[in-house]
Amino acid sequence: MPKQLRFRRRSFLGLLFLFSLSTSALYFIYSAPGIVNEYLFMVQARGIQIKENMRVMGEKVLEQVVRSAYSANGTDYAYDFNLSEPDVPVTPFLPEGFTYLPSQLCPERLPSMKGGVDVNMSEVGLEMVERSLLQQEPSLSRGGHWKPHDCIPHWKVAILVPFRNRHEHLPVLFRHLIPILQRQRLQFAFYVIEQAGNEPFNRAMLFNVGFKEAMKDLDWDCMVFHDVDHIMENDRNYYGCGEMPRHFAVKLNKYSYMLPYHEFFGGVSGLTVEQFRKINGFPNAFWGWGGEDDDLWNRVQYAGYSVSRPPGDIGRYMSIPHHHRGEVQFLGRYTLLRRSKERQSLDGLNNLRYSPLVSRRTLYTNVSVSLSRDMAPVDDY
Ligand code: UDP
Ligand code: BGC
Ligand code: MN
Repeated sequence: MPKQLRFRRRSFLGLLFLFSLSTSALYFIYSAPGIVNEYLFMVQARGIQIKENMRVMGEKVLEQVVRSAYSANGTDYAYDFNLSEPDVPVTPFLPEGFTYLPSQLCPERLPSMKGGVDVNMSEVGLEMVERSLLQQEPSLSRGGHWKPHDCIPHWKVAILVPFRNRHEHLPVLFRHLIPILQRQRLQFAFYVIEQAGNEPFNRAMLFNVGFKEAMKDLDWDCMVFHDVDHIMENDRNYYGCGEMPRHFAVKLNKYSYMLPYHEFFGGVSGLTVEQFRKINGFPNAFWGWGGEDDDLWNRVQYAGYSVSRPPGDIGRYMSIPHHHRGEVQFLGRYTLLRRSKERQSLDGLNNLRYSPLVSRRTLYTNVSVSLSRDMAPVDDY
């Protein structure tokens, strides 16, 4: 082959290589941010786990050496490489057979809350889930409203689920969560806030819409902000609110059951109505994937609250594997996060105008809303 042609072919191949490299890099950075994030956290978590295992093993060996030096025969303490968290407080739960009266407030630590939940991720139709839940509990009414009759519910909880095109996830969520909330003796209903239109997904604005719509429906006192793909693994993760805003989804399987960073506030969180109003709700300015939960964390801190979390393994969740990931990453989130404080009073519940389409379904109220940027104008700051 002539030299010139060989050179051209080589530079063509080189260009092709560079092109495919840069397009795949762009794809992962821009169009599939969740995958990159998951991978980074996984690598980080594995590193921390290995380090932690080495530390604990070292401590145990040392302890064994010290103990055997003091014991007479050296065999009364066995090696135990139990790597569970050492200082998790043991929460007392009421004993089996404990009775309460319809005139009393429902206890928060009921014997019906047994701990581990059998998670079943297999896809199932909504009608099938509706039928089986209604069969088990005929007092479940339209919109997924339910309240206990053997005691007075401690909290009236609205579960808000941001939603677009994840139809296969909803029945899986209901199948697990509804029986759990019944065992927890909470009053509850579900609101699925579905984003219409072609703008990037705005999880936070959907939550603000959901809050306003839910409050028109009933005088709730606690809001749980719940991703559709998060399935609780322990039914002692009580979905009532508290003195402080609560982060429920502490240990996710996708992050090797480790908190990815101290300020992580994603997945499932809960605030009383009073707390949520005080922080002016979620920000409306986060279009696309990422950052809105970090901004909520900042708002909570600036309002003088701290965040409480369930101890030990109670906050474990599995996420339903995603079938589609088309959501664009919100690259402007870092700039906005630097201004969380200034924006808190300007952008949130107080500047949001919208027109929803509300329809009552068997297990939830569907709030469909087309979102656009002019619905939450912010004056210069
Ligand atoms: N979501 C949705 N449709 C979308 C994007 C997001 O319904 O196209 C909702 C859904 O409730 C989901 C949550 O927003 O659980 C968070 O988004 P995603 O699961 O994509 O975030 P990740 O788990 O990757 O952080
Ligand atoms: C994003 C959050 C997200 C978290 C975990 C952060 O970088 O800003 O929105 O919840 O990663 O995926
Ligand atoms: Mn998810």
